[in-house]
Amino acid sequence: QTNLEHLEFQAEVKQLLNIVIHSLYTDREIFLRELISNSADALEKLRYKKLTQTEVIDEDLPLEITIELDDKEHTLTITDTGIGMTKEELVENLGTIAHSGTKAFLKYLAESDKKDVNVIGQFGVGFYSAFMVADKVTVETRSFAPEASGCVWTSEGSGSYSIGETGPLKRGTKITLKLKEDAREFAKPDVIKRIIKQYSGFVPFPILVNGERVNTVQAIWTKNKNEVTEEEYNEFYKYIANAYDEPLLRLHFSADAPINVNALLYVSKHNIEKFGFGRLEPGVNLYCKKVLIQPQAKDILPEWLRFVRGAVDSEELPLNISRETMQDSALMAKLRKVITGRFLKFLNETAKSDPEKYKEFWTNFGMFIKEGAATDFTHRKELVKLLRFSSSRAEEGQLVSLKDYLDRMPEGQKEIYFINAPTKEAVEASPYLEAFRGQDIEVLYTQEAVDDYILSQVGEYEGKKLVSIDRANLEIPEQQQPEGEALAGEELAGLMKWLKEVLGDKVSEVKESKRLSDSPVLVVNPDDMTGSLQRMMQMINK
Ligand code: ADP
Ligand code: MG
Repeated sequence: QTNLEHLEFQAEVKQLLNIVIHSLYTDREIFLRELISNSADALEKLRYKKLTQTEVIDEDLPLEITIELDDKEHTLTITDTGIGMTKEELVENLGTIAHSGTKAFLKYLAESDKKDVNVIGQFGVGFYSAFMVADKVTVETRSFAPEASGCVWTSEGSGSYSIGETGPLKRGTKITLKLKEDAREFAKPDVIKRIIKQYSGFVPFPILVNGERVNTVQAIWTKNKNEVTEEEYNEFYKYIANAYDEPLLRLHFSADAPINVNALLYVSKHNIEKFGFGRLEPGVNLYCKKVLIQPQAKDILPEWLRFVRGAVDSEELPLNISRETMQDSALMAKLRKVITGRFLKFLNETAKSDPEKYKEFWTNFGMFIKEGAATDFTHRKELVKLLRFSSSRAEEGQLVSLKDYLDRMPEGQKEIYFINAPTKEAVEASPYLEAFRGQDIEVLYTQEAVDDYILSQVGEYEGKKLVSIDRANLEIPEQQQPEGEALAGEELAGLMKWLKEVLGDKVSEVKESKRLSDSPVLVVNPDDMTGSLQRMMQMINK
């Protein structure tokens, strides 16, 4: 006998459900992909538990996903023999706790012009898509942990849900959808089989529909490039990235030295970290001869590549490697080095061969490249090549690399100039640029304090010093001064004395300069610290 407790959804979940239930969809069939992907995740977690010898109940249950359709009752039931959930996990995962993904998804829907509900899975709230087709969802689940008991969760999607412990269940999760009147086609085997083939072909566990197996499991990352079709590449991406659309970038490569590796890596079109999702989890699975060793492996790529999705397979990895040994194994370090190096090379090649695509990448994922350039000394040199800026010579929206700058720099110019400029208009109206405009010297515009930090850390590029033009001791040719208007002698000395008196401790010195032609004064920095960096430090020290 089940005693049900009634609980309210967390406020943002309610809002999200309201949108999910009441919007019109062209592609609501993606609900199935979301549920299957959750089952596959749960099965993968279970497989890992077994591999690491955690005690698991119902040990001999086959790892699979079964879908039962009842066209008379209008129900769809999806069952997996995965890791299951305890009662606490049910509450946490499907109800009361606010996940950053909920908020981020709402923000995405409010801000993006496409209003594409189908990307729901990428925000980590895919489960709720069940309410696109069902007016009642029931989850029966039993955790793998021997002491856990069976639990049931049920909701009609409107504000609240019920939860309780129930009788004995087999390990895993069973989700029953009572289909909406206008969604009854989802109880038809042909429809469901077609959807599975379209979205879930790469799920590495058998999927059975009314007892019949529908998917074939393929490890395309171990194949040769010419054996894989564009379609297969895209399908695999959708599976591995839990994505609905196509990837922005793809890199498939293999190597034998210095370590054996097959890798298939993708970059998505959206960067959900930008929408306040919180920190992305790493998204590359680690395999040994097609067997999953670690899903979303932490150490296979540096932190700043956490937006990359895909599969890495190495025959040299021991099958039964634990997370602890993985962390500091020399093998992992070698793999990481090879893959990171190859990926950076790929980005540089893309920038050359397809500038438009690179621009799209930079606009969405540039923040990660900057993070890498600021924190990862090992790869800094390659990362600096990937940085892009606006500049005094660039048109609105045009991006400039340090190499572009160097290539068109006049002979004799010894330094590369930059200035922090959150907006092009603001900086172009400021006196800093006067001296440079007069001489047609290009100045790069950095947008964030982190850019200035990176450039000051990097110091130079191809032997040219990187210099912020708000510095006091700039070595640039003097400006033509407007005739007959300049103060000199005592008048000038008097003005400078007066200025110093008035400004007091706010400035360390007032000096005569030949840098300006139109503006009367300019505030400059006595040391290497740029203005934006100082503001950043002040914020940190508060
Ligand atoms: P995501 O899968 O991205 O985490 P979802 O909204 O699809 O987001 O699922 C939320 C969470 O609910 C999952 O992270 C998982 O912990 C839990 N969950 C959902 N379905 C299952 C299942 N079939 N077995 C075990 N846990 C599940
Ligand atoms: Mg999911």
